[in-house]
Amino acid sequence: MRAEAVRETLAHLIRGEVRLNEPLARHTTLHVGGPADLYIQPSDRAEVILVVRYLIEHDIPWMPLGQGSDLLVSDAGLRCAVVRSGKALRSLQISGGPDHTLIVHAGAGLALPVLAQELKRRGGGGMTFAAGIPGSVGGGIFMNAGAHGGEMKDCVVQVTAVDRYGSIQHYASNELAFAYRHSRFHEDPGFILEAVFQVPQVDPQALAKEMDAHLAYRRATQPLALPSAGSTFRNPPGEKAGRLIEAVGLKGYRIGDAQFSTLHANFIVNLGHATAAQVLALMACAQRRVFEQFGIHLEPELRVLGEP
Ligand SMILES: Cc1cc2nc3c(=O)[nH]c(=O)nc-3n(C[C@H](O)[C@H](O)[C@H](O)COP(=O)(O)OP(=O)(O)OC[C@H]3O[C@@H](n4cnc5c(N)ncnc54)[C@H](O)[C@@H]3O)c2cc1C
Repeated sequence: MRAEAVRETLAHLIRGEVRLNEPLARHTTLHVGGPADLYIQPSDRAEVILVVRYLIEHDIPWMPLGQGSDLLVSDAGLRCAVVRSGKALRSLQISGGPDHTLIVHAGAGLALPVLAQELKRRGGGGMTFAAGIPGSVGGGIFMNAGAHGGEMKDCVVQVTAVDRYGSIQHYASNELAFAYRHSRFHEDPGFILEAVFQVPQVDPQALAKEMDAHLAYRRATQPLALPSAGSTFRNPPGEKAGRLIEAVGLKGYRIGDAQFSTLHANFIVNLGHATAAQVLALMACAQRRVFEQFGIHLEPELRVLGEP
């Protein structure tokens, strides 16, 4: 990629940030990852669309970045342009809907916990599960994020995205191919701009109690004080990845500064200066041992990006 030339052109076209060789460790919750050739933080929605269209027209590989809470970026980094939703897409509008519901328009860069807290304030149910998921609305849609029996797909009505050809598309819920930690965007890349949710209006006190219980459960069971990318592996059908990792004796096992958490074996935590190579070595070790002992192949849940 002619990164320097692209940076210069984009820096003239937008008010947002355009950086060369930006370390992605700064933008992932695991604090691991080498540089992206280009890192772009547009300043508003129009700039997101302009940047994505520019990259498509010039045949420059690109990927959207949310909060980086589901990513393992290789130490060599990414040979593409990384476009962050972030502050460009943090809009939120909540209004009354039919049959005691609320209609929510949320920008893709809005943090899920912010959305959940705002809904709690307004008496909007159905999304308390999102209060402890440190991702963005866009990343949550991409992953169909979920917890405590709830998933994004339960409340999504429509998603607006720039598709891979640069056109703006509006996808209805049944066009989003939602499944366990999966959406259509895995096969049909695009940049999610906004989601519309419909949620029931419920008793705010009951809502607050439910959310507090979810957050307390996380604090008790997840290593929230250390950098991580959440669950490392998907739960195999009828099983828990964490239980399998623990059963093969890897809870607390460490390679360099990467460790299977002593609190939750399916979380890999960064004890200080972990590298992607160390995280990948831990993952390979768990996959090998679990397969040998249980005949089950553990599939990564976090997104592994870049050449090792
Ligand atoms: C402590 C902790 C707890 C967690 N708990 C949970 C949990 O309970 N349940 C759960 O499901 N996950 C959980 N996660 C994982 C993670 O928070 C979710 O998967 C989240 O939805 C990822 O959102 P993100 O904005 O960080 O996405 P990123 O990590 O930035 O990106 C993930 C993928 O989404 C794509 N993407 C991001 N934004 C867009 C966009 N605007 N348009 C198109 N594609 C986009 C990226 O290209 C990438 O492929 C947890 C993570 C941590 C660190």
